[in-house]
Amino acid sequence: MPAASSAHARHIIYLDNAATTPLCEEAAQAMRPYMTPGIEGTFGNANSLHAIGRDAFSALEEARASVTRALRAQRPDEIAFTSGATESDNAALIGIAVAAREKARLKGGLSTGGRIAITRIEHDAVLNATRLLKDLGFAIDFIDNDRNGRITLDTLAAALHDDTLLASVMTANNEVGTVQPVKELAACAHEHGVLFHTDAVQALGKIEVDLSGSGVDAASFSAHKVRGPKGVGVLYLKAGTPFRPYMAGGGQERGLRSGTQNVAGAAGCAAAIARAVERREAYANVTKPVRDYLYTRLCELPKVAPSVSVEPGSDDFLPNIVNVCVKGCESQTLIMQLDMRGFCISGGSACSSNSLDPSHVLSALSIPRNLAQGSLRISLGEDASIQQADLFIEAFKEVVDAWS
Ligand code: PLP
Repeated sequence: MPAASSAHARHIIYLDNAATTPLCEEAAQAMRPYMTPGIEGTFGNANSLHAIGRDAFSALEEARASVTRALRAQRPDEIAFTSGATESDNAALIGIAVAAREKARLKGGLSTGGRIAITRIEHDAVLNATRLLKDLGFAIDFIDNDRNGRITLDTLAAALHDDTLLASVMTANNEVGTVQPVKELAACAHEHGVLFHTDAVQALGKIEVDLSGSGVDAASFSAHKVRGPKGVGVLYLKAGTPFRPYMAGGGQERGLRSGTQNVAGAAGCAAAIARAVERREAYANVTKPVRDYLYTRLCELPKVAPSVSVEPGSDDFLPNIVNVCVKGCESQTLIMQLDMRGFCISGGSACSSNSLDPSHVLSALSIPRNLAQGSLRISLGEDASIQQADLFIEAFKEVVDAWS
């Protein structure tokens, strides 16, 4: 029996869209031919030479062309399909760092193990990839952020050294929604001779993503955050970026990512990305007023403080994320109490929601540990409304008032 039955038996209001999103009809339609059982289905291996394989190959290349257009990459061979953004982040950090170090050493321009610069508020996929890089002899530097999670050209520049090879700064934060000036940061890194990667998972479909225009060398995306299937993502690598694939195998995806391609996943991913990009402005127009309303109404309550200072209408933060701390309360209990009332939300990120430690992001914002332990993230979807927000606030008040 699928575990989903308990949620489906009652009415739920899903406010955890930064964790994942429901599959959209467009993605489901795009995947259907590849999910049809038996010989009637489009089941080919995209690398086979026969007609069945060629059909799969065409579908894969169509998906790649669609992603290239939607993300405004220059060429389809800059796009590789992966198993999700965790893989894309790991591949980008490890693959670029190792290849850039080899290149620099061959030129005789590097006598150290090389350095990587990242922010303290990156997703664990980036943070933990740099732990592996440390084992490979790289030094890791942290780029300072301000109280709202923002980094500046000065703080980036201060973290770059003569032997820094790569900087990675997420386009938008998954817990508090801070948006970074990625175009300017990429230019600053380049001025210092440093390559630039961005995790754009939460930005996609919420704010403009223009890969060629922003000048980044690499970027990561995930389909399931934009109503595509889980287990599929995109790695963008600007043509000419040094890259050593760490997944050894048959050299699929033009050598960038070995393994028989997930054609159904790629088709669903492409459909979801195209849809998210097309609806980006409409999405922000729906969610931003609800975000502002929730911040205002929740922060009027005695125990509640915002985790970041979001001015109404601000574009410095994602339009769909609200993050507050509830004094004297503990997130997991609040989440379970709200769940019992039919509301799905998170503490920090979904991946760390089983941990009792306060999130590394809130720690990096200098939020005291006891306050950060009561943090809640509400992430709005396309169906956001003031009515939904009012129902949430009512349940939230009940739960917080009942806290002894
Ligand atoms: N990066 C960010 C900013 C995320 O929010 C997530 C998902 O939580 C990931 C990376 C990992 O994505 P995936 O679930 O596709 O591995």
